[in-house]
Amino acid sequence: MPELPEVETTRRSLEPLVVGRTIESVEVRCANLRRPLDEDFAARLAGRRLLATARRAKYLIFELDAPESLIVHLGMSGRLIHRPPPVVEPLKHDHVLVALDDDSLMVFHDPRRFGLVALVDTDDCDLLRGIGPEPFDRDLFHGAYLAALGRKTVRTIKDVLMDQRVVAGLGNIYVNEVLFACGIRPRRRLARMTRAECDGVVAQSRVILADAIEHRGSSVSDFLDGVGRRGGYQWKHQVYDREGQPCPRCATPIKAVVIAQRSSFYCPKCQR
Ligand SMILES: [Zn+2]
Repeated sequence: MPELPEVETTRRSLEPLVVGRTIESVEVRCANLRRPLDEDFAARLAGRRLLATARRAKYLIFELDAPESLIVHLGMSGRLIHRPPPVVEPLKHDHVLVALDDDSLMVFHDPRRFGLVALVDTDDCDLLRGIGPEPFDRDLFHGAYLAALGRKTVRTIKDVLMDQRVVAGLGNIYVNEVLFACGIRPRRRLARMTRAECDGVVAQSRVILADAIEHRGSSVSDFLDGVGRRGGYQWKHQVYDREGQPCPRCATPIKAVVIAQRSSFYCPKCQR
Protein backbone atom coordinates (compact mmCIF):
# COMPACT_ATOMS: atom_id res chain seq x y z
CA MET A 1 0.00 0.00 0.00
CA PRO A 2 1.40 3.40 -0.93
CA GLU A 3 2.43 5.35 2.18
CA LEU A 4 3.51 8.95 2.62
CA PRO A 5 6.73 8.70 0.53
CA GLU A 6 4.96 7.02 -2.39
CA VAL A 7 2.08 9.50 -2.35
CA GLU A 8 4.50 12.42 -2.14
CA THR A 9 6.56 10.91 -4.99
CA THR A 10 3.42 10.63 -7.10
CA ARG A 11 2.56 14.25 -6.32
CA ARG A 12 6.03 15.51 -7.24
CA SER A 13 6.07 13.56 -10.50
CA LEU A 14 2.67 14.90 -11.58
CA GLU A 15 2.91 18.50 -10.43
CA PRO A 16 4.99 19.91 -13.32
CA LEU A 17 2.81 18.07 -15.85
CA VAL A 18 -0.63 19.07 -14.64
CA VAL A 19 -0.48 22.38 -12.76
CA GLY A 20 -1.73 25.22 -14.95
CA ARG A 21 -3.60 22.88 -17.27
CA THR A 22 -7.34 22.99 -17.81
CA ILE A 23 -9.44 19.85 -17.62
CA GLU A 24 -11.21 19.41 -20.95
CA SER A 25 -13.30 16.36 -20.16
CA VAL A 26 -13.58 13.52 -17.70
CA GLU A 27 -14.54 9.93 -18.39
CA VAL A 28 -15.63 7.72 -15.50
CA ARG A 29 -15.31 4.11 -16.64
CA CYS A 30 -15.98 2.64 -13.20
CA ALA A 31 -17.65 4.68 -10.45
CA ASN A 32 -17.60 1.85 -7.96
CA LEU A 33 -14.43 2.62 -6.00
CA ARG A 34 -14.00 2.55 -2.19
CA ARG A 35 -16.61 5.27 -2.17
CA PRO A 36 -18.83 5.46 -5.28
CA LEU A 37 -18.21 8.55 -7.41
CA ASP A 38 -20.96 11.17 -7.42
CA GLU A 39 -23.09 10.99 -10.55
CA ASP A 40 -22.16 14.55 -11.51
CA PHE A 41 -18.44 14.08 -10.77
CA ALA A 42 -17.33 14.37 -14.41
CA ALA A 43 -19.56 17.38 -15.08
CA ARG A 44 -18.29 19.23 -12.00
CA LEU A 45 -14.64 18.59 -12.86
CA ALA A 46 -14.75 19.40 -16.58
CA GLY A 47 -13.61 22.91 -17.49
CA ARG A 48 -11.73 23.45 -14.23
CA ARG A 49 -8.14 24.62 -14.11
CA LEU A 50 -5.59 22.78 -11.95
CA LEU A 51 -3.96 25.41 -9.75
CA ALA A 52 -1.70 23.48 -7.39
CA THR A 53 -1.01 20.08 -5.87
CA ALA A 54 -0.76 19.18 -2.20
CA ARG A 55 -0.64 16.13 0.02
CA ARG A 56 -2.30 15.45 3.37
CA ALA A 57 -1.54 12.08 4.98
CA LYS A 58 -1.93 9.56 2.13
CA TYR A 59 -4.28 11.83 0.14
CA LEU A 60 -3.26 13.65 -3.01
CA ILE A 61 -5.03 16.97 -3.41
CA PHE A 62 -5.43 18.93 -6.65
CA GLU A 63 -6.57 22.48 -6.02
CA LEU A 64 -8.92 23.79 -8.69
CA ASP A 65 -10.32 27.19 -9.68
CA ALA A 66 -13.42 26.11 -7.77
CA PRO A 67 -14.45 25.85 -4.12
CA GLU A 68 -13.89 22.09 -4.31
CA SER A 69 -10.64 20.20 -4.76
CA LEU A 70 -9.98 16.89 -6.48
CA ILE A 71 -8.81 14.41 -3.87
CA VAL A 72 -7.28 10.99 -4.60
CA HIS A 73 -6.36 8.11 -2.31
CA LEU A 74 -4.34 5.30 -3.89
CA GLY A 75 -5.74 2.63 -1.56
CA MET A 76 -3.91 -0.69 -1.86
CA SER A 77 -2.98 -0.77 -5.52
CA GLY A 78 -4.03 2.57 -7.02
CA ARG A 79 -1.89 4.66 -9.34
CA LEU A 80 -2.33 8.09 -10.76
CA ILE A 81 -0.58 8.17 -14.11
CA HIS A 82 0.11 10.93 -16.59
CA ARG A 83 -0.07 9.76 -20.21
CA PRO A 84 1.26 12.12 -22.86
CA PRO A 85 -0.37 12.17 -26.30
CA PRO A 86 -1.14 10.36 -28.51
CA VAL A 87 -4.03 8.97 -26.48
CA VAL A 88 -4.18 5.17 -26.47
CA GLU A 89 -7.08 2.87 -25.69
CA PRO A 90 -7.77 2.75 -21.93
CA LEU A 91 -6.22 -0.20 -20.11
CA LYS A 92 -8.05 -2.65 -17.88
CA HIS A 93 -8.49 -1.04 -14.44
CA ASP A 94 -8.29 2.53 -15.82
CA HIS A 95 -11.29 3.86 -13.87
CA VAL A 96 -11.18 7.63 -14.28
CA LEU A 97 -9.65 9.45 -17.27
CA VAL A 98 -9.03 13.18 -16.95
CA ALA A 99 -8.28 14.78 -20.34
CA LEU A 100 -6.12 17.91 -20.14
CA ASP A 101 -5.88 20.78 -22.61
CA ASP A 102 -2.46 19.65 -23.92
CA ASP A 103 -4.04 16.36 -25.10
CA SER A 104 -2.46 14.43 -22.26
CA LEU A 105 -4.40 12.30 -19.79
CA MET A 106 -4.27 11.88 -16.04
CA VAL A 107 -5.55 8.39 -15.31
CA PHE A 108 -6.66 6.78 -12.07
CA HIS A 109 -5.81 3.09 -12.39
CA ASP A 110 -6.60 0.67 -9.58
CA PRO A 111 -6.88 -3.14 -9.97
CA ARG A 112 -8.17 -3.70 -6.43
CA ARG A 113 -10.43 -0.62 -6.30
CA PHE A 114 -9.71 0.26 -2.66
CA GLY A 115 -8.70 3.71 -3.86
CA LEU A 116 -10.84 6.78 -3.89
CA VAL A 117 -11.42 9.79 -6.14
CA ALA A 118 -13.71 12.62 -5.08
CA LEU A 119 -14.45 16.32 -5.32
CA VAL A 120 -14.51 17.80 -1.83
CA ASP A 121 -14.18 20.98 0.17
CA THR A 122 -10.86 20.21 1.88
CA ASP A 123 -11.69 22.53 4.80
CA ASP A 124 -14.84 20.56 5.57
CA CYS A 125 -14.45 16.97 4.45
CA ASP A 126 -15.08 13.82 6.46
CA LEU A 127 -12.15 12.05 4.78
CA LEU A 128 -9.61 14.54 6.13
CA ARG A 129 -11.25 15.33 9.46
CA GLY A 130 -9.58 13.72 12.45
CA ILE A 131 -6.30 12.93 10.70
CA GLY A 132 -3.35 13.46 13.05
CA PRO A 133 -0.33 15.70 12.53
CA GLU A 134 2.03 15.34 9.59
CA PRO A 135 5.28 13.64 10.66
CA PHE A 136 7.31 16.68 9.50
CA ASP A 137 5.24 19.08 11.64
CA ARG A 138 7.63 19.85 14.51
CA ASP A 139 5.03 21.88 16.39
CA LEU A 140 2.55 19.00 16.63
CA PHE A 141 4.51 15.75 16.26
CA HIS A 142 7.17 15.46 18.95
CA GLY A 143 8.33 13.19 21.76
CA ALA A 144 6.16 14.85 24.41
CA TYR A 145 3.10 14.23 22.20
CA LEU A 146 3.84 10.49 22.00
CA ALA A 147 4.76 10.28 25.69
CA ALA A 148 1.47 11.96 26.68
CA LEU A 149 -0.41 9.47 24.52
CA GLY A 150 1.45 6.66 26.26
CA ARG A 151 -0.02 7.72 29.59
CA LYS A 152 -3.55 6.94 28.40
CA THR A 153 -3.24 3.90 26.16
CA VAL A 154 -2.25 0.24 26.45
CA ARG A 155 -1.60 0.02 22.70
CA THR A 156 1.69 -1.06 21.17
CA ILE A 157 3.98 1.48 19.51
CA LYS A 158 3.39 -0.27 16.15
CA ASP A 159 -0.35 0.06 16.50
CA VAL A 160 -0.10 3.70 17.58
CA LEU A 161 2.17 4.74 14.68
CA MET A 162 -0.07 2.97 12.14
CA ASP A 163 -3.07 4.96 13.42
CA GLN A 164 -3.71 7.89 11.04
CA ARG A 165 -5.40 9.81 13.87
CA VAL A 166 -2.09 9.81 15.79
CA VAL A 167 0.28 10.62 12.93
CA ALA A 168 -0.47 10.93 9.23
CA GLY A 169 0.98 8.92 6.39
CA LEU A 170 2.92 6.13 8.08
CA GLY A 171 2.06 2.54 7.17
CA ASN A 172 3.49 -0.91 7.60
CA ILE A 173 6.73 -0.45 5.64
CA TYR A 174 7.91 2.72 7.32
CA VAL A 175 6.75 1.87 10.86
CA ASN A 176 8.82 -1.34 10.69
CA GLU A 177 11.84 0.59 9.43
CA VAL A 178 11.49 3.36 12.06
CA LEU A 179 11.24 0.87 14.92
CA PHE A 180 14.34 -0.99 13.70
CA ALA A 181 16.27 2.29 13.53
CA CYS A 182 15.20 2.99 17.12
CA GLY A 183 15.93 -0.50 18.50
CA ILE A 184 12.34 -0.91 19.69
CA ARG A 185 10.23 -4.03 19.15
CA PRO A 186 6.91 -3.52 17.34
CA ARG A 187 5.01 -5.18 20.19
CA ARG A 188 6.41 -2.89 22.91
CA ARG A 189 3.65 -0.90 24.59
CA LEU A 190 3.92 2.85 24.12
CA ALA A 191 3.40 3.16 27.89
CA ARG A 192 6.64 1.22 28.41
CA MET A 193 8.72 3.62 26.33
CA THR A 194 10.93 6.28 27.85
CA ARG A 195 10.69 9.91 26.83
CA ALA A 196 14.06 9.56 25.05
CA GLU A 197 12.69 6.61 23.08
CA CYS A 198 9.63 8.67 22.09
CA ASP A 199 11.95 11.46 20.93
CA GLY A 200 13.91 8.88 18.95
CA VAL A 201 10.84 7.48 17.20
CA VAL A 202 9.78 10.97 16.12
CA ALA A 203 13.28 11.89 14.92
CA GLN A 204 13.75 8.61 13.01
CA SER A 205 10.31 8.93 11.42
CA ARG A 206 11.40 12.21 9.86
CA VAL A 207 14.83 10.87 8.82
CA ILE A 208 13.45 7.71 7.22
CA LEU A 209 10.48 9.35 5.49
CA ALA A 210 12.72 12.11 4.11
CA ASP A 211 15.21 9.52 2.84
CA ALA A 212 12.41 7.46 1.29
CA ILE A 213 11.04 10.55 -0.50
CA GLU A 214 14.57 11.30 -1.71
CA HIS A 215 14.69 7.77 -3.18
CA ARG A 216 11.19 8.23 -4.70
CA GLY A 217 9.44 5.74 -2.44
CA SER A 218 9.43 1.95 -2.19
CA SER A 219 8.35 -0.11 -5.19
CA VAL A 220 6.82 -3.04 -3.37
CA SER A 221 3.54 -4.37 -4.76
CA ASP A 222 4.44 -2.64 -8.03
CA PHE A 223 4.38 1.01 -6.98
CA LEU A 224 5.13 3.35 -9.90
CA ASP A 225 5.04 7.14 -9.78
CA GLY A 226 2.96 9.42 -12.00
CA VAL A 227 5.24 8.91 -15.00
CA GLY A 228 5.72 5.17 -14.54
CA ARG A 229 9.08 5.19 -12.75
CA ARG A 230 9.87 2.69 -10.00
CA GLY A 231 11.00 3.94 -6.62
CA GLY A 232 14.37 3.03 -5.15
CA TYR A 233 13.86 2.87 -1.41
CA GLN A 234 13.00 -0.86 -1.36
CA TRP A 235 16.75 -1.48 -1.70
CA LYS A 236 17.31 0.40 1.55
CA HIS A 237 14.80 -1.54 3.66
CA GLN A 238 16.56 -2.93 6.73
CA VAL A 239 13.83 -5.25 8.03
CA TYR A 240 10.61 -4.86 6.04
CA ASP A 241 9.80 -8.07 4.12
CA ARG A 242 13.21 -9.54 5.04
CA GLU A 243 12.12 -12.44 7.25
CA GLY A 244 14.97 -14.91 7.77
CA GLN A 245 17.57 -12.66 6.18
CA PRO A 246 20.48 -11.39 8.31
CA CYS A 247 20.01 -8.20 10.32
CA PRO A 248 22.15 -5.51 8.65
CA ARG A 249 23.65 -4.64 12.05
CA CYS A 250 24.21 -7.97 13.83
CA ALA A 251 23.44 -10.70 11.25
CA THR A 252 20.76 -12.33 13.45
CA PRO A 253 17.92 -13.57 11.20
CA ILE A 254 15.05 -11.06 10.95
CA LYS A 255 11.83 -12.30 12.55
CA ALA A 256 8.28 -11.75 11.34
CA VAL A 257 5.18 -11.73 13.52
CA VAL A 258 1.61 -10.91 12.54
CA ILE A 259 0.02 -8.07 14.55
CA ALA A 260 -3.49 -6.92 13.64
CA GLN A 261 -3.33 -8.80 10.29
CA ARG A 262 -0.14 -6.97 9.29
CA SER A 263 3.33 -8.52 9.38
CA SER A 264 5.87 -6.92 11.65
CA PHE A 265 9.54 -7.47 10.95
CA TYR A 266 12.26 -6.99 13.56
CA CYS A 267 15.67 -8.10 14.74
CA PRO A 268 15.25 -10.06 17.98
CA LYS A 269 18.74 -8.98 19.10
CA CYS A 270 18.86 -5.28 18.14
CA GLN A 271 15.26 -4.45 19.09
CA ARG A 272 14.04 -4.57 22.69
ZN1 LIG B 1 20.26 -7.08 14.74
